[in-house]
Amino acid sequence: MRLKIVQAGEAVLRQRGKDLSAGEIRSREIQNLIEWMRETMYDAPGVGLAAPQVGLSLRLAVIEDKPENLKDVPADYLKERDRKAVPFHVIVNPKLTLEGPADAEFFEGCLSLSGFTAVVPRARKVRVECLDHQGEPKTIQASGWYARILQHEIDHLVGTVYIDRMRSRTFMSVENHNRYWKNKSSADLRKLIGWES
Ligand code: ZN
Repeated sequence: MRLKIVQAGEAVLRQRGKDLSAGEIRSREIQNLIEWMRETMYDAPGVGLAAPQVGLSLRLAVIEDKPENLKDVPADYLKERDRKAVPFHVIVNPKLTLEGPADAEFFEGCLSLSGFTAVVPRARKVRVECLDHQGEPKTIQASGWYARILQHEIDHLVGTVYIDRMRSRTFMSVENHNRYWKNKSSADLRKLIGWES
């Protein structure tokens, strides 16, 4: 089933989600939700989807960066972002630890800010302690683009969206990003648009 993705302006995107117990995670209701969020993420398409984005104030998100997302992307573009495929998984009640400064600056988008993008500084490495789709404790060590996805989704679970962290001068439509900026280096972008670190 495809769920409706809410857009900026819905209060649920600004609220802290409720934690789930292992028993609740294993319930039919949450197992269905996980499956529907997975289908909704594929359909969007996106590489992550948090429960508040489908109108539910819960600390649960799904993530997957499929190999086919990467197959038409130039190798140097992937290398610069340290982006590799990530298998489907669920994170619940995550605790995020940044391992290093937020100095990776790349354009990022959000399904709840449809049609827009901006440069968002993020840590290159993170550690996440959470529960998985069966309510089992799990520790994730992530780097590169996967670390960015985790930071973005975990922000959603406490009511934060990327516009709270973005380099605001780089905020633009996806259409203009593709038209003017897609193939520019971060150094060119900084020179042409200019922002304070
Ligand atoms: Zn988002």
